[in-house]
Amino acid sequence: MAKKQEFVKEITKMEDDFPQWYTDVIMKTDMVDYSPVKGFMVIKPYGYAIWENIQSFLDRRFKETGHQNCYFPLLIPESLLNKEKEHVEGFAPEVAWVTHGGSEKLAERLCVRPTSETIICSMYSKWLTSYRELPYLYNQWCSVVRWEKSTRPFLRTSEFLWQEGHTLHETAEEAQAETLQMLSIYKEMAEDLLAIPMVDGRKSDRERFAGAESTYTIEALMHDGKALQSGTSHNLAQHFTKAFDITFQGRSGELEYPHHTSWGVSTRLIGGIIMVHGDNRGLVLPPRVAPIQVVIIPIAQNKEGVLDKAYEIKKELEAKGIRVKLDDDTNYSPGWKFNQYEMKGVPLRLEIGPRDIEQNIAMIARRDDLSKESYSLDNLGESISALLDTVHNDMLRRATEYRDEKTFTFKDYEEFKVKMKESPGFAKGMWCGEEECEAKVKDETGVTIRCIPFNQENLGDTCHFCQKPAKHMIYAAKAY
Ligand SMILES: [Zn+2]
Repeated sequence: MAKKQEFVKEITKMEDDFPQWYTDVIMKTDMVDYSPVKGFMVIKPYGYAIWENIQSFLDRRFKETGHQNCYFPLLIPESLLNKEKEHVEGFAPEVAWVTHGGSEKLAERLCVRPTSETIICSMYSKWLTSYRELPYLYNQWCSVVRWEKSTRPFLRTSEFLWQEGHTLHETAEEAQAETLQMLSIYKEMAEDLLAIPMVDGRKSDRERFAGAESTYTIEALMHDGKALQSGTSHNLAQHFTKAFDITFQGRSGELEYPHHTSWGVSTRLIGGIIMVHGDNRGLVLPPRVAPIQVVIIPIAQNKEGVLDKAYEIKKELEAKGIRVKLDDDTNYSPGWKFNQYEMKGVPLRLEIGPRDIEQNIAMIARRDDLSKESYSLDNLGESISALLDTVHNDMLRRATEYRDEKTFTFKDYEEFKVKMKESPGFAKGMWCGEEECEAKVKDETGVTIRCIPFNQENLGDTCHFCQKPAKHMIYAAKAY
């Protein structure tokens, strides 16, 4: 027990200092490290394996819905970036420029992609000729660079890993359907893989993507009551296709501009996992995204038969497709290992020792609720598969309950300000739809309208900020 107490002290309590808690967790669990370039992170194997599991879920769903992967260059000529006016204004302040090739100054500056609409559109305009080739359903896995002033690993870094889908469609209806389909795949991924409940909806005009007709978003609530924009899908209409002169011969024989979408999620999702599920002992990983789902720790492993049994169990679980680690390192005590894997958020810990073997059982400890129970060694693979699902469902339920507790409805601006200060979370209210009103709230409180949710409730006839006639019900929050 002494060790456990000592260990817990290593991580700052989240109630005392949430940002420091976050930093302690990511550093002590060996997910990430700071790099020699300020604002750029190194993702270490334990963090990267989480990203790989997110990738593999999404890549499968993208392909099931007809998308193909491809790759476009890292560098974008300045003239291309400048073609869509709103887009360049949105991204110019955070673009990194390449000005030299070797020692020679380039005739035209090249930007490191902050997102790839412009370079991809320049190629689409070269390729597309007829409606018969549509839709274009392409995605790329890559990294992008946005020069950020203040950064936090996973949440906001100057370079981050993501995927960006870029599609072209014959009609506006198809583009809109694609935009919403991809948002719903993101929501499904968040709930089925990460056990994070999402509010889905549309961004206000002020918050939408630079160059988009409309932006849709999934928003999650973190443990500290701040929101995390977790994925976006944009209906770009014909803004870029006109700017880049992408045309095709339509069914009538006339030249037409296609309708365009783009959508992305990034490594910031990992920050979301940490801040939704983590506790004062460290990470709590949802089973389906955890690099290690079950860690087997042999007890008194020098006793005859213990290691053999442990390896036998490992094999049985792996045959069920479970990601297992058996830690038989003799340099560390079982107690030390318990603490390590608890901090690293491994969903299940299986202890097996001579007495367990005698009774044909294993002890299994759950990371999410810290409960411990013995399981028969008969059909252990099946019991553990089922338990991993239970853990997932319980984590999603608890995260949903927590979010709902932190969601409040406000009647007017004064009440909103008080509540946001005392117990921050999602604020639900009516909004007039005017940018001025939204800007005032942001300037005065730092709170932004996160989205106009698909699930609209009628909470009154007037804007809860300014008392003008109300247009939409909104969720507002402070955000990462
Ligand atoms: Zn208003």
